Amino acid sequence: MQICTDGLIIAQMDIGDCDKLVTVLTRKFGVIRAFVKGAKNIRNKNFAGTQIFCYSDFNIYKGRNKYIINESSIKKSFWKLRSNIEKLALAQYFCELILNLVGESNNTESILRLMLNSLYYISEDKLSNPTIKSIFEMRILAISGYMPDLVVCNKCSSFKNNDMYFVPSMACLLCHKCYKKVDATGFKLKPAVLFAIRHTVYSEFNKMFCFEILNDSQKELSNITEAYIQHCIERSIKTLDFYKQVAIS
Ligand SMILES: [Zn+2]
Repeated sequence: MQICTDGLIIAQMDIGDCDKLVTVLTRKFGVIRAFVKGAKNIRNKNFAGTQIFCYSDFNIYKGRNKYIINESSIKKSFWKLRSNIEKLALAQYFCELILNLVGESNNTESILRLMLNSLYYISEDKLSNPTIKSIFEMRILAISGYMPDLVVCNKCSSFKNNDMYFVPSMACLLCHKCYKKVDATGFKLKPAVLFAIRHTVYSEFNKMFCFEILNDSQKELSNITEAYIQHCIERSIKTLDFYKQVAIS
């Protein structure tokens, strides 16, 4: 069976001297792993379209238990990512999150859209890396079944904005009074950080990256979104460790 889809290459591995196995975040068929014959050769027709971070149109043969890419035509390469180690590390971290959170059968349209927009904002310097990182972390969790409840205190429905804690293990907000009664670790939220974390989850898609936050508040937001990622993924994330080693901002 032939399938046609657009998608983004999020991992690649050499197979022998000539061939590659690539992982594609497709629009409609989830995350798939596909062979590309001869794609290590620079003269091969699929060389350009199957590089990491290339967004391409694909014509794929689907066999009983494997996929083979027949044709690829590149739509966008995000080549600017390769010139900066911090940007590259952040993009690789996003790929690892997708690999951890998204399966073959999921409808991945919204995740592809999120990823393409995030790569665009990273590569064009449109927003600081930590801010893009926090937005991506919360948004991919929300799409993947870990939507937190950030409206009011989860226990008593209090909505005082200067009195809230985010508790990753409960995926919700608690007011100070209710937080004291639970045996869980939470983060006290300044109003600016509460506003920011709500924005990452609830803003309309096309306003998601229209966002400004002061440095101190961004640091608090980063701690919180990372803690929520760690809680949901429950294993060490190598590309996150690497990003933190090379990040200067
Ligand atoms: Zn409460």
